[in-house]
Amino acid sequence: VGIDLEDVRLAVMRQYAAGILPSTASLAADLATDATTTDPTTVDAAAVDVALAELHEQRHVVLRDGEIVMAHPFASIPLGFSVMGRSTLWWGGCAWDSFAIPHLLPDEPDVLVATRCPGCDAPLAWVVGREAPPAGDEVAHFLVPTAHIWDDVVHTCGNQRLFCGSACVDRWLAATGNDRGDVFDLATLWRLARGWYAGRLDRGYVRREPVAAREYFASVGLSGPFWGL
Ligand SMILES: [Zn+2]
Ligand SMILES: [Zn+2]
Repeated sequence: VGIDLEDVRLAVMRQYAAGILPSTASLAADLATDATTTDPTTVDAAAVDVALAELHEQRHVVLRDGEIVMAHPFASIPLGFSVMGRSTLWWGGCAWDSFAIPHLLPDEPDVLVATRCPGCDAPLAWVVGREAPPAGDEVAHFLVPTAHIWDDVVHTCGNQRLFCGSACVDRWLAATGNDRGDVFDLATLWRLARGWYAGRLDRGYVRREPVAAREYFASVGLSGPFWGL
């Protein structure tokens, strides 16, 4: 046994969870000491990069120019959101990813999610926890339909945003020349985020493919062809 792919995936997720932006070097160091299945004598930068390329193919991580930029719900690049926990600050990925973080991390029962409305630049923030959706009249707008989420997933996540209300969505659509995607309320976003990434920090995780998740989307209150429904 050389490098075990699941060891690498878990090392990525655990580093992100701890607020570390994973790199080839940080993962190689981690795998040489903390891996379960991996033979530590087989760990070097080249072997880690081969494993990361395979995880990218399997959509567990997103690489750009050989560097990890995302492993949902975490990101190494700004996509519009920050997420502040008790002792850790994350780039929150998209609206969906940011709302998912307290559901995924046992030690973070609630977090402060902050962004700017793309329509009017107003600062927006919510305390997002596990028990109930945050209060507020703001709305989520997702630009890219589920069938195309993985065409360019960084673009997709970068356009899953929160707005003051539908007037700000309309203003942003007019300013950017984009067609309307789907608009829904904070409670629906919270339900969408709640179970989506369940198990991602555990060994043996099987990821959900958005195009195969119609039942889940319907169960959280989403509908229409945007979601494959
Ligand atoms: Zn606004
Ligand atoms: Zn996202």
